[in-house]
Amino acid sequence: MAWDFETEPDFQAKLDWMDAFVRDEVEPVDHVIEHAWNVDDPVRNRLIRPLQEKVREQGLWACHLEPRLGGPGYGQVKLALMNEILGRTHSGPVVFGCQAPDSGNAEILAHYGTPELKRRFLEPLIANEIVSCYSMTEPAGGSDPTGFATRAVRDGDEWVINGEKWFSSHARFASFLIVLAVTDPDAPPHQRMSMFVVPRDTPGLETVRDVAIAGHEGQQGTHAYLRYTDVRVPADRMLGERGAGFAVAQTRLGGGRIHHAMRTIGLVRRTFDMMRERAVSRHTKGESLGNKQLVQQMIADSWVEMEQFRLLVLRTAWRIDRYQDYRAVRADIAAVKTAMPKVLHDVVARAIQLHGSLGISTELPLGTWLLESFHMGLADGPTEIHKLSLARELLKGVEPAPDLFPSAHLPRVTASARERFAEELAEVAGELADIAVGAGERAS
Ligand SMILES: Cc1cc2nc3c(=O)[nH]c(=O)nc-3n(C[C@H](O)[C@H](O)[C@H](O)COP(=O)(O)OP(=O)(O)OC[C@H]3O[C@@H](n4cnc5c(N)ncnc54)[C@H](O)[C@@H]3O)c2cc1C
Repeated sequence: MAWDFETEPDFQAKLDWMDAFVRDEVEPVDHVIEHAWNVDDPVRNRLIRPLQEKVREQGLWACHLEPRLGGPGYGQVKLALMNEILGRTHSGPVVFGCQAPDSGNAEILAHYGTPELKRRFLEPLIANEIVSCYSMTEPAGGSDPTGFATRAVRDGDEWVINGEKWFSSHARFASFLIVLAVTDPDAPPHQRMSMFVVPRDTPGLETVRDVAIAGHEGQQGTHAYLRYTDVRVPADRMLGERGAGFAVAQTRLGGGRIHHAMRTIGLVRRTFDMMRERAVSRHTKGESLGNKQLVQQMIADSWVEMEQFRLLVLRTAWRIDRYQDYRAVRADIAAVKTAMPKVLHDVVARAIQLHGSLGISTELPLGTWLLESFHMGLADGPTEIHKLSLARELLKGVEPAPDLFPSAHLPRVTASARERFAEELAEVAGELADIAVGAGERAS
Protein backbone atom coordinates (compact mmCIF):
# COMPACT_ATOMS: atom_id res chain seq x y z
CA MET A 1 0.00 0.00 0.00
CA ALA A 2 2.02 2.96 -1.23
CA TRP A 3 -0.33 5.96 -1.18
CA ASP A 4 1.38 8.77 0.67
CA PHE A 5 0.94 12.55 0.84
CA GLU A 6 3.78 13.19 3.27
CA THR A 7 7.17 14.78 2.59
CA GLU A 8 10.35 13.27 4.07
CA PRO A 9 11.52 15.46 7.01
CA ASP A 10 14.94 16.13 5.40
CA PHE A 11 13.39 17.36 2.20
CA GLN A 12 10.71 19.30 4.08
CA ALA A 13 13.53 21.16 5.85
CA LYS A 14 14.91 22.18 2.44
CA LEU A 15 11.46 23.32 1.32
CA ASP A 16 11.07 25.35 4.51
CA TRP A 17 14.43 27.02 3.85
CA MET A 18 13.37 27.73 0.25
CA ASP A 19 10.03 29.13 1.30
CA ALA A 20 11.58 31.66 3.68
CA PHE A 21 14.45 32.48 1.30
CA VAL A 22 12.13 33.10 -1.65
CA ARG A 23 9.78 35.33 0.38
CA ASP A 24 12.48 37.29 2.18
CA GLU A 25 15.31 37.47 -0.35
CA VAL A 26 13.99 36.77 -3.85
CA GLU A 27 10.55 38.43 -3.99
CA PRO A 28 11.94 41.93 -3.21
CA VAL A 29 14.43 41.60 -6.10
CA ASP A 30 11.50 41.23 -8.53
CA HIS A 31 10.56 44.83 -7.83
CA VAL A 32 13.90 46.41 -8.68
CA ILE A 33 15.23 44.51 -11.69
CA GLU A 34 13.77 44.64 -15.17
CA HIS A 35 14.34 41.08 -16.28
CA ALA A 36 15.98 38.20 -14.40
CA TRP A 37 17.13 36.60 -17.67
CA ASN A 38 19.22 39.62 -18.72
CA VAL A 39 22.71 38.42 -17.79
CA ASP A 40 24.17 41.71 -19.08
CA ASP A 41 22.26 43.88 -16.60
CA PRO A 42 24.67 44.95 -13.81
CA VAL A 43 21.82 45.60 -11.32
CA ARG A 44 20.41 42.13 -11.96
CA ASN A 45 23.85 40.57 -11.55
CA ARG A 46 24.61 42.50 -8.38
CA LEU A 47 21.40 41.29 -6.74
CA ILE A 48 20.90 37.83 -8.23
CA ARG A 49 24.42 36.38 -8.29
CA PRO A 50 24.82 36.35 -4.45
CA LEU A 51 21.41 34.69 -4.12
CA GLN A 52 22.47 32.02 -6.62
CA GLU A 53 25.55 31.39 -4.46
CA LYS A 54 23.35 30.80 -1.40
CA VAL A 55 21.26 28.33 -3.40
CA ARG A 56 24.41 26.46 -4.47
CA GLU A 57 25.58 26.29 -0.84
CA GLN A 58 22.25 24.65 0.04
CA GLY A 59 22.75 22.09 -2.76
CA LEU A 60 19.58 23.32 -4.47
CA TRP A 61 21.08 24.62 -7.73
CA ALA A 62 19.64 23.26 -11.01
CA CYS A 63 17.78 20.46 -9.26
CA HIS A 64 16.17 19.33 -12.53
CA LEU A 65 19.55 18.12 -13.79
CA GLU A 66 20.90 14.62 -13.48
CA PRO A 67 24.05 14.15 -11.38
CA ARG A 68 26.18 13.72 -14.54
CA LEU A 69 25.27 17.34 -15.39
CA GLY A 70 25.95 18.59 -11.89
CA GLY A 71 22.42 18.47 -10.44
CA PRO A 72 21.07 16.24 -7.64
CA GLY A 73 18.75 14.41 -10.09
CA TYR A 74 15.62 15.14 -8.10
CA GLY A 75 12.57 13.48 -9.56
CA GLN A 76 9.54 15.45 -10.71
CA VAL A 77 7.66 15.15 -7.41
CA LYS A 78 10.43 16.93 -5.53
CA LEU A 79 10.71 19.45 -8.36
CA ALA A 80 6.96 20.05 -8.14
CA LEU A 81 7.20 20.91 -4.46
CA MET A 82 10.14 23.22 -5.14
CA ASN A 83 8.65 24.86 -8.22
CA GLU A 84 5.44 25.75 -6.46
CA ILE A 85 7.54 27.89 -4.14
CA LEU A 86 9.44 29.45 -7.06
CA GLY A 87 6.21 30.17 -8.97
CA ARG A 88 5.41 33.00 -6.56
CA THR A 89 8.18 35.04 -8.18
CA HIS A 90 9.63 36.23 -11.48
CA SER A 91 13.27 35.74 -10.48
CA GLY A 92 12.92 32.55 -8.41
CA PRO A 93 13.59 30.04 -11.22
CA VAL A 94 16.71 32.00 -12.30
CA VAL A 95 17.98 32.18 -8.71
CA PHE A 96 17.62 28.38 -8.48
CA GLY A 97 19.05 27.68 -11.97
CA CYS A 98 15.96 25.99 -13.40
CA GLN A 99 14.38 28.67 -15.62
CA ALA A 100 12.68 28.09 -18.96
CA PRO A 101 13.60 27.89 -21.75
CA ASP A 102 17.17 27.23 -20.59
CA SER A 103 16.27 24.11 -18.60
CA GLY A 104 14.67 22.47 -21.66
CA ASN A 105 17.40 23.67 -24.01
CA ALA A 106 20.00 22.21 -21.64
CA GLU A 107 18.21 18.87 -21.81
CA ILE A 108 18.36 18.95 -25.62
CA LEU A 109 22.05 19.87 -25.65
CA ALA A 110 22.86 17.21 -23.06
CA HIS A 111 21.12 14.57 -25.18
CA TYR A 112 22.17 15.61 -28.66
CA GLY A 113 25.03 18.13 -28.47
CA THR A 114 28.58 17.40 -29.63
CA PRO A 115 31.32 17.67 -26.98
CA GLU A 116 32.23 21.07 -28.45
CA LEU A 117 28.64 22.33 -28.22
CA LYS A 118 28.43 21.09 -24.65
CA ARG A 119 31.62 22.87 -23.68
CA ARG A 120 30.75 26.08 -25.51
CA PHE A 121 27.05 26.34 -24.65
CA LEU A 122 25.80 23.71 -22.20
CA GLU A 123 28.30 24.28 -19.40
CA PRO A 124 27.91 28.09 -19.26
CA LEU A 125 24.14 27.69 -19.66
CA ILE A 126 23.90 25.43 -16.64
CA ALA A 127 26.03 27.89 -14.67
CA ASN A 128 23.70 30.75 -15.82
CA GLU A 129 26.69 32.60 -17.24
CA ILE A 130 24.65 32.73 -20.46
CA VAL A 131 20.99 32.22 -21.36
CA SER A 132 19.34 30.78 -24.47
CA CYS A 133 16.30 30.97 -26.73
CA TYR A 134 13.99 28.38 -28.26
CA SER A 135 13.00 29.55 -31.74
CA MET A 136 10.20 27.43 -33.14
CA THR A 137 6.91 29.36 -33.60
CA GLU A 138 6.45 31.22 -36.89
CA PRO A 139 4.45 34.37 -37.65
CA ALA A 140 2.03 32.42 -39.87
CA GLY A 141 1.00 30.18 -36.94
CA GLY A 142 2.38 28.23 -34.03
CA SER A 143 -0.34 25.72 -33.20
CA ASP A 144 0.37 23.57 -36.22
CA PRO A 145 4.13 22.99 -36.46
CA THR A 146 3.70 20.87 -39.58
CA GLY A 147 2.97 24.16 -41.38
CA PHE A 148 6.31 25.80 -40.46
CA ALA A 149 8.18 27.17 -43.48
CA THR A 150 11.64 28.18 -42.24
CA ARG A 151 14.04 26.22 -44.43
CA ALA A 152 17.53 24.84 -43.83
CA VAL A 153 19.37 23.78 -46.99
CA ARG A 154 22.65 21.86 -47.00
CA ASP A 155 25.54 23.63 -48.69
CA GLY A 156 28.82 21.69 -48.40
CA ASP A 157 29.70 21.41 -44.71
CA GLU A 158 27.11 23.95 -43.68
CA TRP A 159 23.37 24.41 -43.33
CA VAL A 160 21.89 27.65 -44.61
CA ILE A 161 18.75 28.80 -42.78
CA ASN A 162 16.14 31.19 -44.21
CA GLY A 163 12.80 32.16 -42.72
CA GLU A 164 11.05 34.00 -39.92
CA LYS A 165 10.33 33.06 -36.32
CA TRP A 166 7.92 34.67 -33.92
CA PHE A 167 7.84 34.91 -30.12
CA SER A 168 11.39 33.64 -29.76
CA SER A 169 11.43 34.57 -26.07
CA HIS A 170 14.61 36.02 -24.58
CA ALA A 171 16.41 36.13 -27.95
CA ARG A 172 17.81 39.52 -27.00
CA PHE A 173 19.51 38.08 -23.91
CA ALA A 174 20.53 34.78 -25.50
CA SER A 175 23.97 33.59 -26.54
CA PHE A 176 22.46 30.91 -28.76
CA LEU A 177 19.14 29.79 -30.17
CA ILE A 178 17.76 26.35 -30.78
CA VAL A 179 15.91 26.57 -34.10
CA LEU A 180 13.49 24.21 -35.84
CA ALA A 181 13.72 24.31 -39.65
CA VAL A 182 12.47 22.26 -42.59
CA THR A 183 15.28 20.16 -44.05
CA ASP A 184 13.22 17.52 -45.88
CA PRO A 185 10.12 19.17 -47.36
CA ASP A 186 8.99 16.00 -49.18
CA ALA A 187 9.13 13.71 -46.13
CA PRO A 188 5.98 12.92 -44.07
CA PRO A 189 4.98 15.99 -41.99
CA HIS A 190 6.60 14.87 -38.74
CA GLN A 191 9.89 13.96 -40.42
CA ARG A 192 10.42 17.18 -42.35
CA MET A 193 12.20 19.25 -39.75
CA SER A 194 15.52 19.26 -37.96
CA MET A 195 16.83 21.13 -34.95
CA PHE A 196 19.89 23.42 -35.01
CA VAL A 197 22.01 25.41 -32.60
CA VAL A 198 22.55 28.94 -33.92
CA PRO A 199 24.86 31.33 -32.02
CA ARG A 200 23.10 34.66 -31.51
CA ASP A 201 25.83 36.65 -33.28
CA THR A 202 25.65 34.60 -36.51
CA PRO A 203 25.51 36.92 -39.55
CA GLY A 204 22.04 37.06 -41.15
CA LEU A 205 20.12 36.75 -37.88
CA GLU A 206 18.11 39.92 -37.43
CA THR A 207 15.53 41.06 -34.87
CA VAL A 208 12.58 42.59 -36.70
CA ARG A 209 11.25 43.73 -33.32
CA ASP A 210 10.99 42.67 -29.71
CA VAL A 211 7.32 42.12 -28.95
CA ALA A 212 6.05 43.00 -25.47
CA ILE A 213 3.25 41.26 -23.58
CA ALA A 214 0.17 43.20 -22.48
CA GLY A 215 0.47 43.83 -18.76
CA HIS A 216 4.22 44.44 -19.07
CA GLU A 217 3.92 47.73 -20.95
CA GLY A 218 6.66 49.41 -18.95
CA GLN A 219 9.27 46.96 -20.23
CA GLN A 220 11.03 46.55 -23.52
CA GLY A 221 9.62 43.42 -25.19
CA THR A 222 11.38 40.09 -24.80
CA HIS A 223 9.54 37.99 -27.40
CA ALA A 224 11.50 38.43 -30.58
CA TYR A 225 10.22 38.48 -34.13
CA LEU A 226 13.32 37.13 -35.89
CA ARG A 227 14.37 36.99 -39.51
CA TYR A 228 16.93 34.42 -40.68
CA THR A 229 18.55 35.42 -43.98
CA ASP A 230 21.22 33.00 -45.24
CA VAL A 231 22.20 32.13 -41.68
CA ARG A 232 25.04 29.60 -42.01
CA VAL A 233 25.89 27.02 -39.36
CA PRO A 234 28.36 24.11 -39.56
CA ALA A 235 26.81 20.69 -40.20
CA ASP A 236 27.57 19.49 -36.66
CA ARG A 237 25.19 22.13 -35.25
CA MET A 238 22.29 19.83 -36.07
CA LEU A 239 20.84 18.30 -32.89
CA GLY A 240 19.69 14.71 -33.33
CA GLU A 241 19.10 13.04 -36.66
CA ARG A 242 18.13 14.86 -39.83
CA GLY A 243 14.31 14.98 -39.95
CA ALA A 244 14.02 14.21 -36.21
CA GLY A 245 13.28 17.79 -35.09
CA PHE A 246 9.88 16.89 -33.64
CA ALA A 247 11.27 13.98 -31.64
CA VAL A 248 14.08 16.24 -30.31
CA ALA A 249 11.49 18.91 -29.39
CA GLN A 250 9.64 16.39 -27.25
CA THR A 251 12.78 16.04 -25.08
CA ARG A 252 12.09 19.51 -23.73
CA LEU A 253 8.35 19.94 -24.00
CA GLY A 254 7.16 17.26 -21.57
CA GLY A 255 9.34 18.54 -18.74
CA GLY A 256 8.76 22.18 -19.68
CA ARG A 257 4.99 21.88 -19.55
CA ILE A 258 4.87 20.20 -16.17
CA HIS A 259 7.34 22.70 -14.69
CA HIS A 260 5.16 25.61 -15.86
CA ALA A 261 2.23 23.91 -14.15
CA MET A 262 4.15 23.46 -10.90
CA ARG A 263 5.05 27.14 -10.86
CA THR A 264 1.46 28.08 -11.67
CA ILE A 265 0.37 26.44 -8.41
CA GLY A 266 2.64 28.92 -6.62
CA LEU A 267 1.11 31.89 -8.43
CA VAL A 268 -2.43 30.66 -7.75
CA ARG A 269 -1.59 30.21 -4.07
CA ARG A 270 -0.13 33.70 -3.86
CA THR A 271 -3.33 35.06 -5.44
CA PHE A 272 -5.43 33.00 -3.05
CA ASP A 273 -3.51 34.40 -0.07
CA MET A 274 -4.27 37.91 -1.32
CA MET A 275 -7.97 37.02 -1.56
CA ARG A 276 -8.05 35.75 2.00
CA GLU A 277 -6.29 38.82 3.33
CA ARG A 278 -8.72 41.07 1.48
CA ALA A 279 -11.73 39.11 2.73
CA VAL A 280 -10.81 39.70 6.37
CA SER A 281 -9.55 43.28 5.88
CA ARG A 282 -12.24 45.04 3.86
CA HIS A 283 -15.51 45.95 5.56
CA THR A 284 -18.81 46.88 4.03
CA LYS A 285 -22.30 47.18 5.52
CA GLY A 286 -20.85 46.69 8.97
CA GLU A 287 -19.01 43.44 8.38
CA SER A 288 -15.97 42.01 6.64
CA LEU A 289 -16.20 40.78 3.05
CA GLY A 290 -15.36 37.34 4.44
CA ASN A 291 -18.74 37.28 6.19
CA LYS A 292 -20.66 37.62 2.93
CA GLN A 293 -21.79 34.25 1.62
CA LEU A 294 -21.05 35.10 -2.01
CA VAL A 295 -17.49 35.97 -1.01
CA GLN A 296 -17.22 32.78 1.02
CA GLN A 297 -18.25 30.90 -2.11
CA MET A 298 -15.43 32.58 -4.07
CA ILE A 299 -12.92 31.57 -1.40
CA ALA A 300 -14.19 27.99 -1.17
CA ASP A 301 -14.33 27.51 -4.96
CA SER A 302 -10.83 28.92 -5.36
CA TRP A 303 -9.36 26.63 -2.74
CA VAL A 304 -11.01 23.54 -4.20
CA GLU A 305 -9.87 24.38 -7.75
CA MET A 306 -6.32 25.13 -6.57
CA GLU A 307 -6.02 21.91 -4.57
CA GLN A 308 -7.56 19.80 -7.37
CA PHE A 309 -5.05 21.25 -9.80
CA ARG A 310 -2.18 20.70 -7.37
CA LEU A 311 -3.13 17.05 -6.94
CA LEU A 312 -3.33 16.56 -10.71
CA VAL A 313 0.12 18.10 -11.13
CA LEU A 314 1.63 16.04 -8.30
CA ARG A 315 0.07 12.83 -9.61
CA THR A 316 1.45 13.59 -13.07
CA ALA A 317 4.87 14.29 -11.58
CA TRP A 318 4.68 11.00 -9.71
CA ARG A 319 3.76 9.13 -12.90
CA ILE A 320 6.70 10.73 -14.78
CA ASP A 321 9.06 9.50 -12.04
CA ARG A 322 7.40 6.10 -12.01
CA TYR A 323 7.40 5.40 -15.77
CA GLN A 324 10.39 7.50 -16.90
CA ASP A 325 8.71 7.82 -20.28
CA TYR A 326 6.84 10.95 -21.36
CA ARG A 327 4.79 8.94 -23.87
CA ALA A 328 3.26 7.01 -20.97
CA VAL A 329 2.06 10.25 -19.35
CA ARG A 330 0.97 12.11 -22.48
CA ALA A 331 -2.66 12.28 -21.34
CA ASP A 332 -1.69 13.44 -17.84
CA ILE A 333 0.50 16.25 -19.16
CA ALA A 334 -2.19 17.34 -21.63
CA ALA A 335 -4.71 17.39 -18.76
CA VAL A 336 -2.41 19.52 -16.63
CA LYS A 337 -1.76 21.89 -19.53
CA THR A 338 -5.52 22.16 -20.11
CA ALA A 339 -6.36 22.87 -16.46
CA MET A 340 -3.50 25.32 -15.85
CA PRO A 341 -4.76 28.50 -17.59
CA LYS A 342 -8.29 28.04 -16.28
CA VAL A 343 -7.40 27.69 -12.61
CA LEU A 344 -5.06 30.68 -12.77
CA HIS A 345 -7.60 32.76 -14.70
CA ASP A 346 -10.55 31.94 -12.46
CA VAL A 347 -8.77 32.47 -9.14
CA VAL A 348 -7.12 35.71 -10.30
CA ALA A 349 -10.43 37.00 -11.71
CA ARG A 350 -12.11 36.46 -8.34
CA ALA A 351 -9.20 38.13 -6.56
CA ILE A 352 -9.52 41.18 -8.84
CA GLN A 353 -13.24 41.35 -8.13
CA LEU A 354 -12.68 41.17 -4.35
CA HIS A 355 -10.07 43.93 -4.50
CA GLY A 356 -12.47 46.18 -6.42
CA SER A 357 -10.97 49.16 -8.22
CA LEU A 358 -7.61 48.53 -6.56
CA GLY A 359 -7.67 44.99 -7.98
CA ILE A 360 -7.89 46.17 -11.55
CA SER A 361 -5.35 48.97 -11.08
CA THR A 362 -1.64 48.78 -11.82
CA GLU A 363 -1.02 49.14 -8.07
CA LEU A 364 -1.56 45.40 -7.64
CA PRO A 365 -0.06 42.64 -9.80
CA LEU A 366 -3.41 40.93 -10.38
CA GLY A 367 -4.09 42.39 -13.84
CA THR A 368 -0.69 41.16 -15.03
CA TRP A 369 -1.38 37.71 -13.59
CA LEU A 370 -4.76 37.57 -15.32
CA LEU A 371 -2.95 38.06 -18.63
CA GLU A 372 -0.40 35.52 -17.47
CA SER A 373 -3.24 32.97 -17.55
CA PHE A 374 -3.47 33.55 -21.33
CA HIS A 375 0.27 33.04 -21.59
CA MET A 376 -0.28 29.67 -19.87
CA GLY A 377 -3.00 28.83 -22.39
CA LEU A 378 -0.76 29.55 -25.39
CA ALA A 379 2.92 28.87 -24.70
CA ASP A 380 3.91 25.27 -25.44
CA GLY A 381 0.73 24.94 -27.54
CA PRO A 382 -2.79 26.29 -27.03
CA THR A 383 -5.29 24.70 -24.68
CA GLU A 384 -7.50 23.50 -27.54
CA ILE A 385 -4.71 21.33 -28.96
CA HIS A 386 -4.01 19.78 -25.55
CA LYS A 387 -7.71 19.07 -25.09
CA LEU A 388 -7.77 17.34 -28.46
CA SER A 389 -4.77 15.24 -27.61
CA LEU A 390 -6.17 14.42 -24.14
CA ALA A 391 -9.47 13.33 -25.66
CA ARG A 392 -7.64 11.23 -28.27
CA GLU A 393 -5.70 9.44 -25.52
CA LEU A 394 -8.85 8.93 -23.47
CA LEU A 395 -10.72 7.43 -26.42
CA LYS A 396 -7.92 5.02 -27.34
CA GLY A 397 -8.98 1.37 -27.06
CA VAL A 398 -12.54 2.16 -25.98
CA GLU A 399 -14.99 -0.49 -27.27
CA PRO A 400 -18.10 0.76 -29.14
CA ALA A 401 -21.54 -0.16 -27.73
CA PRO A 402 -22.63 -3.68 -28.77
CA ASP A 403 -25.67 -2.39 -30.68
CA LEU A 404 -27.90 0.64 -31.07
CA PHE A 405 -28.18 1.17 -27.30
CA PRO A 406 -25.32 1.98 -24.90
CA SER A 407 -23.95 -0.81 -22.75
CA ALA A 408 -25.39 1.04 -19.71
CA HIS A 409 -28.93 0.96 -21.17
CA LEU A 410 -31.05 -0.02 -18.15
CA PRO A 411 -33.32 -2.59 -19.87
CA ARG A 412 -30.16 -4.41 -21.06
CA VAL A 413 -28.37 -4.14 -17.72
CA THR A 414 -31.45 -5.26 -15.75
CA ALA A 415 -32.13 -8.22 -18.06
CA SER A 416 -28.51 -9.27 -17.79
CA ALA A 417 -28.55 -8.99 -13.97
CA ARG A 418 -31.81 -10.96 -13.77
CA GLU A 419 -30.28 -13.69 -15.90
CA ARG A 420 -27.12 -13.78 -13.78
CA PHE A 421 -29.03 -14.05 -10.48
CA ALA A 422 -31.89 -16.15 -11.91
CA GLU A 423 -31.18 -19.09 -9.57
CA GLU A 424 -30.99 -16.93 -6.43
CA LEU A 425 -34.08 -14.93 -7.42
CA ALA A 426 -36.02 -18.16 -8.09
CA GLU A 427 -34.93 -19.63 -4.73
CA VAL A 428 -35.92 -16.49 -2.80
CA ALA A 429 -39.25 -16.33 -4.69
CA GLY A 430 -39.88 -20.00 -3.72
CA GLU A 431 -39.02 -19.29 -0.08
CA LEU A 432 -41.33 -16.28 -0.02
CA ALA A 433 -44.15 -18.37 -1.58
CA ASP A 434 -43.67 -21.08 1.11
CA ILE A 435 -43.81 -18.43 3.86
CA ALA A 436 -47.00 -17.01 2.34
CA VAL A 437 -48.58 -20.46 2.15
CA GLY A 438 -47.55 -21.16 5.79
CA ALA A 439 -48.99 -17.85 6.93
CA GLY A 440 -52.24 -18.56 5.07
CA GLU A 441 -52.53 -21.98 6.68
CA ARG A 442 -51.92 -20.56 10.19
CA ALA A 443 -54.56 -17.86 9.60
CA SER A 444 -57.23 -20.36 8.51
C1 LIG B 1 4.43 34.38 -23.45
C2 LIG B 1 4.72 33.46 -24.58
C3 LIG B 1 6.00 32.99 -24.76
C4 LIG B 1 6.30 32.18 -25.86
N1 LIG B 1 7.59 31.76 -26.04
C5 LIG B 1 7.89 31.04 -27.13
C6 LIG B 1 9.26 30.67 -27.38
O1 LIG B 1 10.14 30.97 -26.58
N2 LIG B 1 9.54 30.01 -28.52
C7 LIG B 1 8.59 29.66 -29.42
O2 LIG B 1 8.93 29.04 -30.41
N3 LIG B 1 7.28 29.99 -29.22
C8 LIG B 1 6.92 30.68 -28.11
N4 LIG B 1 5.61 31.06 -27.89
C9 LIG B 1 4.63 30.80 -28.93
C10 LIG B 1 3.62 29.72 -28.60
O3 LIG B 1 4.20 28.46 -28.69
C11 LIG B 1 2.45 29.94 -29.57
O4 LIG B 1 1.79 31.12 -29.16
C12 LIG B 1 1.46 28.80 -29.61
O5 LIG B 1 2.05 27.64 -30.14
C13 LIG B 1 0.24 29.18 -30.45
O6 LIG B 1 0.62 29.62 -31.71
P1 LIG B 1 0.06 31.05 -32.24
O7 LIG B 1 0.30 32.06 -31.19
O8 LIG B 1 0.63 31.29 -33.58
O9 LIG B 1 -1.49 30.84 -32.35
P2 LIG B 1 -2.30 30.24 -33.59
O10 LIG B 1 -1.62 29.02 -34.10
O11 LIG B 1 -2.59 31.34 -34.53
O12 LIG B 1 -3.64 29.81 -32.87
C14 LIG B 1 -4.56 30.81 -32.39
C15 LIG B 1 -5.70 30.14 -31.69
O13 LIG B 1 -6.43 29.32 -32.59
C16 LIG B 1 -7.03 28.27 -31.88
N5 LIG B 1 -6.58 26.99 -32.46
C17 LIG B 1 -5.43 26.71 -33.06
N6 LIG B 1 -5.38 25.44 -33.46
C18 LIG B 1 -6.56 24.87 -33.12
C19 LIG B 1 -7.15 23.59 -33.26
N7 LIG B 1 -6.48 22.57 -33.85
N8 LIG B 1 -8.40 23.38 -32.77
C20 LIG B 1 -9.09 24.39 -32.17
N9 LIG B 1 -8.57 25.62 -32.01
C21 LIG B 1 -7.34 25.87 -32.48
C22 LIG B 1 -6.56 28.39 -30.42
O14 LIG B 1 -7.54 29.12 -29.71
C23 LIG B 1 -5.30 29.20 -30.56
O15 LIG B 1 -4.98 29.89 -29.36
C24 LIG B 1 5.27 31.82 -26.78
C25 LIG B 1 3.97 32.27 -26.57
C26 LIG B 1 3.69 33.07 -25.50
C27 LIG B 1 2.28 33.59 -25.34
